Amino acid sequence: MTGQATERKALIFDIQSFSIQDGPGIRTTVFFKGCPLNCIWCHNPESKTIKPQLMFYKSRCTGCMLCAENCRDGAQIALSDGSHYVLNEKCTFCGKCLEFCCYDALKICGAPFSPEELCERLKSDMRYFNLEGKTGGGRGGITFSGGEPLLYSGFIRDFCALVPDVHTAMETSGYGSREDLEKITGCIDLFLFDIKLINGSEHKKYCGAGNDVILDNLKFLYENDKDIILRLPLIPGINDTAEQLDGIVKLLEKYPRIKRVEIMPYHNLGLGKLEALGMEIPAELPRLNAGREKAEKWLGEFRARGFDRVYCA
Ligand code: SF4
Ligand code: SF4
Repeated sequence: MTGQATERKALIFDIQSFSIQDGPGIRTTVFFKGCPLNCIWCHNPESKTIKPQLMFYKSRCTGCMLCAENCRDGAQIALSDGSHYVLNEKCTFCGKCLEFCCYDALKICGAPFSPEELCERLKSDMRYFNLEGKTGGGRGGITFSGGEPLLYSGFIRDFCALVPDVHTAMETSGYGSREDLEKITGCIDLFLFDIKLINGSEHKKYCGAGNDVILDNLKFLYENDKDIILRLPLIPGINDTAEQLDGIVKLLEKYPRIKRVEIMPYHNLGLGKLEALGMEIPAELPRLNAGREKAEKWLGEFRARGFDRVYCA
């Protein structure tokens, strides 16, 4: 991660309406840019840095070079072999080249929003949320995701104050300061809390930091009676181990009020994005999607050990 999140403006790289995977009911998911971890399997690598980026999808590009002709900053160039190259460091994110690219080969990732601007942007979606408020049946709402939304806790607190009747969820790695967590504990109704690796040194190896802070923050949320769903990314060859399964079972025994567990089999959507960002593809990153077999096996193991609120995404 580079840069720092500011309190008043958040850098947001995507807003997905009608989401049904990120908490109960019909939701709008807001993706914040920036993450303090660096998980090698990240399927949103465009979320890692807290600064805008220009993504270039080479496979869609016809080489017309209209983008280069219309870029005043010299950020789009043709190399001597005729191939097209993007100089992200020269780009000012003016968006001019996007107007000339008929093939959707270019995308600016990351735009600043104030809490009020985000509220305005989501206004039309709110009619699809639970119109009866938090106590009603549907409980759709807004999910904050990323990147790591805890980096924007001040922003999220201010935003939530503008929409007090909307159900809110946060998809988090749990890796953030206690101060940031405390800022949003009162205004988030549901935490979708990732447990990536139970083994601390493996967590450090594959995610760039240990898991002590994460496990402490999980304890804090649990002790504060927050609704929690555990999310388990299942990455072939990395965390699909007996040690991981046993560790999760121990957590569930320790925290019996955890609402449910969702197993998230790895998919390789991040590969194309890494290429579009000009980022290196880690050697250990699985190239293929994970099959359902391992996830189904885990599901069976959890159920055999008495945990029936476990599902496979
Ligand atoms: S305008 Fe689009 S299609 Fe043409 S060279 Fe640029 S990126 Fe490629
Ligand atoms: S966004 Fe603007 S500065 Fe960046 S490459 Fe396109 S035209 Fe050039």
